[in-house]
Amino acid sequence: MHSFEYNANPARVVFGSGSIKRLPEEVKRLGKSKPLLLSTPQQKEQVQALEPILKDAGITSAGLFSEATMHTPTHITNQALEYTKSVSADCVISFGGGSTIGLGKAISIRTGLEHICIPTTYAGSEMTPILGETEEGKKTTRSDEKILPGTVIYDVDFTMTLPAALSATSGVNAIAHAVEALYARNTNPIMNLLALEGTKELAEALPTIVNNPQDKEARSKAQYGAWLCGMCLGSVGMALHHKLCHTLGGSFNLPHAETHTIVLPHAIAYNAPKIPEVMEKLANVLPGSDGDAIKGLNVLLTKLKFKRGLKDFGMKEEDVDKAVEIAVGNPYWNPREIEKEPLRETIRRCWAGQEAK
Ligand code: NAD
Repeated sequence: MHSFEYNANPARVVFGSGSIKRLPEEVKRLGKSKPLLLSTPQQKEQVQALEPILKDAGITSAGLFSEATMHTPTHITNQALEYTKSVSADCVISFGGGSTIGLGKAISIRTGLEHICIPTTYAGSEMTPILGETEEGKKTTRSDEKILPGTVIYDVDFTMTLPAALSATSGVNAIAHAVEALYARNTNPIMNLLALEGTKELAEALPTIVNNPQDKEARSKAQYGAWLCGMCLGSVGMALHHKLCHTLGGSFNLPHAETHTIVLPHAIAYNAPKIPEVMEKLANVLPGSDGDAIKGLNVLLTKLKFKRGLKDFGMKEEDVDKAVEIAVGNPYWNPREIEKEPLRETIRRCWAGQEAK
């Protein structure tokens, strides 16, 4: 076995249907009594369901800030900070997907307030010490252990409303964290266990959810898988797939989870010649792979009935060359060297919606 380093991210997790009832206990456990609730405008009604749960235990929330939005723009964070101060909140509770959790992290790192997350998608931000923020259209990402939320409540009941298409893309976004963790330069055997288990759970559950979004058992399985995959993202370095998605999303305004879903099989196919052992392990946990991980990913995406081309989301053909230039101009570690022509073909296939091979 290779030598390795392993650092555990110290988050407390409460998992299970109905676990939201434990929220007041978790607030009190931190010695707090005036939590600020955070959500997107779309989830304002859903987050309001937390107020009576808190009230029954004698806790009145400091208020609700429901303007969280994609990419954590700093002008929204500044508004939220003013509100946090004006209501004298003593901790924050983010309820939602990566966008709301991003806002919770941005407030927490600036104020030192404790952060409790209630994730309602599969993106995994709650398990990472990473924060991406945008200012005047420019995205910067930083990592700091103080950004890692201290408490996470995974209550499957709040994921039941996640639309089928978003469940699919958010779930594949999670799988992408795990797959890249398998070949990360600083990977380790513990992360490998989490990555393979997380991928297996999601790959089995997501097609069931797409066909029946009300299947609670499958939802629970997917949420468990997403937690494990989020731990992978929070613990080891990512490579071509994540960098490419970052470039494509940031430069051509492509949607986050959808871009991850389309790019994943292509990025893995690019790296495949250099990671034969990873491809074998991955194939073993992907249903219908017949021993071929790329086939397994293609089978999964077909079952998820998802559009396969970035052109379907507004990317233009001439953007392919621009994307290649940006991607090669920004060097980072990857198991296979970033070579312009093969990468161009990879991005072109993503754009055109062709199957990875
Ligand atoms: P999101 O948070 O943007 O949510 C997408 C939409 O779905 C929103 O309108 C939201 O209100 C709605 N929604 C969420 N859960 C729902 C539910 N259960 N029922 C109904 N509607 C629901 O989407 P996301 O994919 O979770 O997060 C994407 C963002 O998170 C991106 O900005 C990405 O960069 C960031 N992210 C960060 C990290 C990190 O470690 N820092 C990790 C993953 C993602």
